Amino acid sequence: MTEHVLVVGGGIAGLTLAAALDPCRFRVTLVEERPERAGAGTVLALWRGAMADLDRLGVGQRIRTASVTSDHGTLRDARGGVLVRHRMPQLCFAPRPEIVGALEAALPTTATRLTREVTDPDALASEVGADLVVGADGVRSVCRQTAFAGTAPVVTDWIALRGHLPGPRPQGPTEWWGPGGVFGVTPGPHGAAWFCAVRADQPDPGLQAPPLDEALALVTRRFGDWDPLLQRVLAGAGPDADVQRILLAPPLRRSAVGGLVLIGDAAHGMAPNLGRGANEAIRDADVLARMLHHHGAKGASPAFHRRRHATTQVLRAASSVALRTATTRRLARVRDHVVRALPQQRPPTG
Ligand SMILES: Cc1cc2nc3c(=O)[nH]c(=O)nc-3n(C[C@H](O)[C@H](O)[C@H](O)COP(=O)(O)OP(=O)(O)OC[C@H]3O[C@@H](n4cnc5c(N)ncnc54)[C@H](O)[C@@H]3O)c2cc1C
Repeated sequence: MTEHVLVVGGGIAGLTLAAALDPCRFRVTLVEERPERAGAGTVLALWRGAMADLDRLGVGQRIRTASVTSDHGTLRDARGGVLVRHRMPQLCFAPRPEIVGALEAALPTTATRLTREVTDPDALASEVGADLVVGADGVRSVCRQTAFAGTAPVVTDWIALRGHLPGPRPQGPTEWWGPGGVFGVTPGPHGAAWFCAVRADQPDPGLQAPPLDEALALVTRRFGDWDPLLQRVLAGAGPDADVQRILLAPPLRRSAVGGLVLIGDAAHGMAPNLGRGANEAIRDADVLARMLHHHGAKGASPAFHRRRHATTQVLRAASSVALRTATTRRLARVRDHVVRALPQQRPPTG
């Protein structure tokens, strides 16, 4: 007998789950409010574990072909001085539209796709006759807020911007850490991609980011006395640049209850500094699919909770520590001193 899984949200988490479920065992309804938004964005760094999950789905090679891989990076201070050159696990810098396109192509033809905003997940579950609801609806998750009272997203006063940087492709990623901001350049499909995060001028109690032109003016000012390269990058930012307020998921005791499981940013939306959000979304979806195949819709949620909850909650907290460490004003000199003392590891030549 097939069981019916209702997936709310067609971002990376929701699409990965829908593509991973065996259509002979599960009927899937995937509801996405804004399908055009799901495929937008620049580059995501994917770690080995997430790539292995994507390989199992049969989409890893397509994503790798459109990506750049690197196993070393450079950390600089605000003025551009090298703090450390370091080796890191091999990362795949993958264009987000390519990840989303590959996952969409892997969806079984039997999946039902609906375009609408879900306001009442329980009502929709009854309407479609779902055995399990999966909240893959991002950090603002309606599913989370319906199932767990008092779990509105945490609104930070940080904003993040990102865009493409046409030109020569860097060999590996570089980050600049300085008081009140962080800037990064990574390899990207059009050459490179950039991102940065700063505190907004005015703490805004709302969930929105400022308009792009205001945000660009703000970061151009904030990074004015940093490495001059950053001004050149920002001067070339086009209308395809993207600005968003950094929202975090609140700490959760559980990410699964009864007939509902939360995956991805809905469960553990985190600051972007560790580059783990999309990776954990993919890992969640892979584990939940395996738990569903093994235990069925009833038994999957406690098994998923045991496998994933503690790890992702720790990463959520660690990403905020990483944001504070990268942007500290008070302890910047101590931090730079410590980082400079780390062993330098030059990238391989040739
Ligand atoms: C600047 C920046 C850089 C980043 N870099 C990296 C990186 O290098 N590596 C990495 O792993 N992660 C990175 N991330 C994080 C990553 O983008 C997210 O963690 C990831 O996209 C989360 O995927 P998701 O599917 O859980 O949520 P989302 O991508 O937010 O998808 C949720 C989907 O649900 C839909 N939805 C929401 N509400 C409803 C509703 N009520 N009804 C119907 N549909 C709904 C939305 O339209 C959306 O498509 C970065 C984030 C930022 C901001």
